[in-house]
Amino acid sequence: MKKVLAFDIDQTLNVAKTPIPDEIADLLIECLNYYAICPISGQKFDQFLIQIVNRLVERGVTSEQLENLHLFVAQGTQYYRYVPGKTTKHGNKLFSVETSISSGKEPYSEEKWEQVYSYPLTDEQVEKITNAIEIAAKELGYWEEDKLKDGDEIIENRLSQVTFSALGQKAGTEEKYAWDPDCKKREKIVARAKEIAPEFDYEIGGTTSINAITPGMNKEFGMTHLLKELDVEKDEILYFGDMTQPGGNDYPVVKMGIDTITVRSHEDTAYALRGILGVTEK
Ligand SMILES: [Mg+2]
Repeated sequence: MKKVLAFDIDQTLNVAKTPIPDEIADLLIECLNYYAICPISGQKFDQFLIQIVNRLVERGVTSEQLENLHLFVAQGTQYYRYVPGKTTKHGNKLFSVETSISSGKEPYSEEKWEQVYSYPLTDEQVEKITNAIEIAAKELGYWEEDKLKDGDEIIENRLSQVTFSALGQKAGTEEKYAWDPDCKKREKIVARAKEIAPEFDYEIGGTTSINAITPGMNKEFGMTHLLKELDVEKDEILYFGDMTQPGGNDYPVVKMGIDTITVRSHEDTAYALRGILGVTEK
């Protein structure tokens, strides 16, 4: 019996870096009635709000349903859960996304997301990784600073990981897809960065991204903590991801022996979720 549906985000629930479509939002809301729903991705917390939570709120999710939503941020090195009736000390400081929509019996409030744990990188680790990737990308001619939009950056400190986004966060989707469709550029950057700073792991994800982490701080770390926090066994989880091949950022989940569905896009995920809901006892 599956109790948990866990999801990669980019290319699994959405078009990379964009909010989830209506169809996925509606299916997730329905699934929240029967399953713990656990998105796990390299994104920062505010992106989880923009891409998933705000969309669910727009589509009418209730506070009660949100209690079944568990956010495993930065590959699960940070974990947030929704605690209605409680305003946490993290509230005002961390959450900058504006949401005024209310739903269900109790109005939705961003301040009610509680950070349960966080495992950040040290400043020294961040600096080493940043240097290694920058040098590698520059040597290979893949440092596209001139293509950045105002205020955007190629390398971003996401606390538990450092992320390289070749064209920045704000680049258009088409432009991003075209940049490295076969992952070859990123494979070269990874190989060179690994020579410069071998003590870190580098994973390819999204359309233009490389995530650098300390070894073990990948989705295996996140999923291991998920097992503990939600008090479930591996065989009670079903995981969805688009990068389940060796070297992909979903592969650590496969390696753990968790049941995995490989999808090409959110359309595949929607198709599978409809099937799952069709056989779920209600
Ligand atoms: Mg993905």
